[in-house]
Amino acid sequence: MIIVMQKGATSRQISHVIARVEQLGRQVHLSEGEERTVIGVLGEGRPLDEEQFGRIEGVEQIVPIVSPFKLASRDFRPQDTLVALNGIKAGGKRVVIIAGPCAVENREQLLETAYAVKEAGATVLRGGAFKPRTSPYSFQGLGFEGLKLLAEAREATGLLVVTEVISPETVPLVSTYADILQVGARNMQNYALLHAVGEAHKPVILKRGMMCTMKELLMSAEYILSHGNDRLILCERGIRTFEPYTRNTLDINAVPMLQELTHLPVFVDPSHGTGKWSLVGPIARAALAAGADGLMIEVHPNPEEALSDGVQSLKLERFARLMGELRAVAGAVGRSI
Ligand code: PEP
Ligand code: MN
Repeated sequence: MIIVMQKGATSRQISHVIARVEQLGRQVHLSEGEERTVIGVLGEGRPLDEEQFGRIEGVEQIVPIVSPFKLASRDFRPQDTLVALNGIKAGGKRVVIIAGPCAVENREQLLETAYAVKEAGATVLRGGAFKPRTSPYSFQGLGFEGLKLLAEAREATGLLVVTEVISPETVPLVSTYADILQVGARNMQNYALLHAVGEAHKPVILKRGMMCTMKELLMSAEYILSHGNDRLILCERGIRTFEPYTRNTLDINAVPMLQELTHLPVFVDPSHGTGKWSLVGPIARAALAAGADGLMIEVHPNPEEALSDGVQSLKLERFARLMGELRAVAGAVGRSI
């Protein structure tokens, strides 16, 4: 449940409520808004006596939360969460466009892509340095070298940088280079990693596992939120179905469904969602029309020679053309890019 404190409740009143909650063996998540403080009651056990809590001095309202995810739910925070990304805000009117190669391959490839996507209007550069590949024989990424190249591309272009983190031990290292940490589909239920990024002081993009339900995605989000990091963005990237023509089936339902269930921004990755460059444009447009707060698109100067995901990567000029179309779609649904 959530305990909404009255406007102007004193810190003594707030501490008193927290102490009562903790006496009952529950944890507290404090959310101090501009107007009032909201106390989230977490943990399991016997239901708390709502009436009794409602009578405590300084308490305005008790809101029960029935969903298994609490901090991620709209009941906990009815208004949209805006995730600050160094000046840009995810979840607001302006749609965030993330673009770049699947993997950082070398300096030239990364810088050429970075300048091109910046010119086309993207605000965040993506690029994997640590790649979680299905085969151990596939390119695994440049690792530390890749992180340094990403930082160089940020310096050169002013773009923010997002890159994947695949183990809890490397969260501090990746955090010193990246502006945003990506938790990939394969790690959506790596709870040690969720714990670690929950304690990191960087925004996180959590991608939906390819075999995971929306509820499971929101439970994973709950791990990150409950460890203290509320700068969290969700990303639909397609799920596995019986259809083999496409790599995954992008679950467009997830955009408005998640937005009903959670206050967190919802992004879409049409590259992994389709696995085919020719479908990326149509699905990117559909995602914006459905209300996505951002897109993550794979772009490569020479997709034929890409070391990973070339078949789903857009060439630089194609990405620039798509950006023009996306601006029109965004405008049609009351957003901008
Ligand atoms: C990626 O973004 O390159 C990636 C590996 O994505 P996902 O985790 O969605 O497969
Ligand atoms: Mn990829």
